[in-house]
Amino acid sequence: MKPIRLAANRFPRFYRGGSAIDGLRGTAPQAGGAFLPEDWVGSTTTAFGSDEDGLTRLEDGGTLRAAVAADPEGFLGPGHLEAFGDSPALLVKLLHAGERLPVHCHPDREFARRHLDCPWGKTEAWVIAGIDGPEPVVHLGFREPMDRGRLAELVAAQRVEPLLASLNAVPVAAGDTVLVPAGLPHAIGQGVLLVELQEPTDLSVLLEWEGFAIDGRRDGHLGLGFELALGCVDRSGWGPDRLAGLRRGRGPDRPGVERLFPAGADPFFRAERLRPDPAAPLEAAFSILVVTDGSGRLEVSGGSLGLRRGDTVLVPYAAGPGTVRGRLGAVRCLPPAPQAGPTGQGDGP
Ligand SMILES: [Zn+2]
Repeated sequence: MKPIRLAANRFPRFYRGGSAIDGLRGTAPQAGGAFLPEDWVGSTTTAFGSDEDGLTRLEDGGTLRAAVAADPEGFLGPGHLEAFGDSPALLVKLLHAGERLPVHCHPDREFARRHLDCPWGKTEAWVIAGIDGPEPVVHLGFREPMDRGRLAELVAAQRVEPLLASLNAVPVAAGDTVLVPAGLPHAIGQGVLLVELQEPTDLSVLLEWEGFAIDGRRDGHLGLGFELALGCVDRSGWGPDRLAGLRRGRGPDRPGVERLFPAGADPFFRAERLRPDPAAPLEAAFSILVVTDGSGRLEVSGGSLGLRRGDTVLVPYAAGPGTVRGRLGAVRCLPPAPQAGPTGQGDGP
């Protein structure tokens, strides 16, 4: 199988952004671009409530989801297939916050299984790719333990100022990484562009919606009602030491390759930063490359492709091992290791 160059995959969301995605990809600003803040890369996941939005389409017009279903072993490899079935178990996005995102959080697997009939939660992680706004910051976790009743009251009354002030404001710069475990309340500052890895769902609970193009009171609780939905929020206090644990990486792994994210991310996804020196070796794996700067070449058994800033490429397992060469930086996004099934015990979903 050959590596597959992926076209942009944008569709409207309820918050502004996207110009920095056009900038990264070197494409003309899209019509209606003010509300196209996300690009779902190599996605077999649909947006919440949609049958279509979010799915990556291949050159022949078919969906990646159908292509994977037709050849799961070729795309995913036998180990992955046994652990996760024919789901890539991964969603990758480019995300550009044209305005500060509302405070929100995502359910974990147990909550999603129990209340949403879904084997996946939405732990996510960010690789900051650039910042073009006045607010190089993300908001992450309550600074002090948050009382359940007080949280319900802040959300019901949409008291945004005290809600936001109760979160840690964490400065970020290009190259930083942040693991965001399911449940942790968070918001992304205006101007932040990131490569996002997450579990393959679109499950969000909104704690804030005032001033955004969405009726959060109606659509912010996953159809569960807020009393139940707010049960997925991590209301514990996050001090500097706990926060630092989310921002840690793993350091060099092999020549030209650095492992990103702390070990706590492993059951959900894995990521590497490639800086070929002069080559970065790749093992055979379903993976998604996002080139963040420079240019070079991907060479695997199944074929080779030129790479430049803004390119996104899906490498199927059956494309085999190979290398990336050149003067470039890229994020290589991978599903969880096969031994980390959704139950953490290697069971399929
Ligand atoms: Zn989120």
